Amino acid sequence: MTERKPCRCLLADSLPDLARTVAEYIAALPEDILAPAQERAARLAVCLQCPWLRDGTCARCGCYAEARAAKKGQRCPDIPPRWR
Ligand code: SF4
Repeated sequence: MTERKPCRCLLADSLPDLARTVAEYIAALPEDILAPAQERAARLAVCLQCPWLRDGTCARCGCYAEARAAKKGQRCPDIPPRWR
């Protein structure tokens, strides 16, 4: 049996069922805690270049990158942070 290596990608590209669940979670968040779409995209672009990203999960903190990037006031947990 061949084990699949985790990819440096977001949930949508690795685990689509989980991606839908996280997308529903984000869609249910109150508007006032959501980061602007452009900021979310910029954060995720950084995550996509980050060695800590594994199948949409940040291996630095264990959260889903899409969920972390979606909220205002969040920052990358790496030291120093890769995005704020
Ligand atoms: S360490 Fe920061 S940049 Fe890297 S995957 Fe986690 S949140 Fe994204």
